[in-house]
Amino acid sequence: MNPTPRTGAQAGSLADRFEATFGAAPHGVWAAPGRVNLIGEHTDYNEGFVLPFAIDKRARTAVRLRSDSVRKDSTIRLLSTFGDQELVEADAAALIPGTVTGWARYPLGVVWALQQHGIEIPGFDLLLDSDVPLGAGLSSSHAIECAVITALNELTGAGLSAEEMVRLTQHAENAFVGAPTGIMDQSASLRGASGHAVFLDCRDQAVDLVPFETEKAGLVLLVIDTKVSHSHADGGYASRRASCELGADVLGAGALRDVAVADLGEASSLLDPVTFRRVRHIVTENDRVLQAVDVLRIQGPAHIGSLLDASHASMRDDFEISCPELDLAVDTARAYGAIGARMTGGGFGGSAIALTPVQDEQQVRDAVVRAFADAGFTRPDIFTVTPAAGAERVS
Ligand code: ADP
Ligand code: MG
Repeated sequence: MNPTPRTGAQAGSLADRFEATFGAAPHGVWAAPGRVNLIGEHTDYNEGFVLPFAIDKRARTAVRLRSDSVRKDSTIRLLSTFGDQELVEADAAALIPGTVTGWARYPLGVVWALQQHGIEIPGFDLLLDSDVPLGAGLSSSHAIECAVITALNELTGAGLSAEEMVRLTQHAENAFVGAPTGIMDQSASLRGASGHAVFLDCRDQAVDLVPFETEKAGLVLLVIDTKVSHSHADGGYASRRASCELGADVLGAGALRDVAVADLGEASSLLDPVTFRRVRHIVTENDRVLQAVDVLRIQGPAHIGSLLDASHASMRDDFEISCPELDLAVDTARAYGAIGARMTGGGFGGSAIALTPVQDEQQVRDAVVRAFADAGFTRPDIFTVTPAAGAERVS
């Protein structure tokens, strides 16, 4: 990997900036969004249900293959418009998991995963531009991976299905980047659609698009990024997974997905109190996702508030993955007009979401900022997201 100084990636359209940087026009520009999980937390690795949606913030990649019928070239050159990045150079024929640092491991992980799948990837030049905030729990890394795999799928004529691309980006994150992530984020980014949430069955990747039109319902979905990332998040995640496995084992279920709300009474006599509460979160959360899907289909977004609230309470009290900042964000948003609010993402920090009537948006924002200041917490970042299109070619 030989970083060389960046040049000319500042102004104009992404295609123009690409040409200024690499000296030739790109073969196309592909975009893939970040995501917010509306409901269904920690249910993914229990083979359960989740309900994320693709958001109106996305990564865009301009790409040009470097090989043609005459010249074969396995060089990959990558540049991001983000911050003060330098151009990264790599050899497509010599990628080794765990050896790449920085943002290049996301696109290169995708290249590696495609190669593992038997798809030959020639060298290419790539310019990335993304407005998905980093590390706010909106999956900026999957936005990059999904934009890259969508581009390479088309440019190489690989003909991969969305399901295959979901598996391959998961393989890239797990085996090349080294992050133990599931399939939710890529499924939302690759399979999302404007005005819809993605009802995903994590057991078999079945997807149903569910209408989720916040604007039409007079609502905004606020994301409150608490800016907190607790050092025990990794350990907390691992121990929650272990509790879920233990619970499923003791209950003789293949996965907690197979335990019903009606089974909880019996489960409480078989499990130790902590494991029981972890199990109860998963079992009731799966049920809340199913209810949310029904409510969205029949009544619309204005009626899912109590499910969001119940999801938060369950994560706070049973799964114990909230933190004071998330609880304050949720409680304050509710007190000032949100019809429902919950932490979203893995927990121990990150973001909360608050579904709020348009007319109350400003007072919720002001109240949350004030409450954080009064508590001596770091000022949160608050912004709105709307359910937007999944990955696509944009030029
Ligand atoms: P999340 O996916 O929740 O936002 P991650 O830690 O998984 O958080 O991914 C964040 C990483 O993705 C960053 O550290 C950076 O390496 C990479 N990244 C995201 N957006 C960009 C960008 N626009 N340019 C370069 N790298 C980016
Ligand atoms: Mg990520």
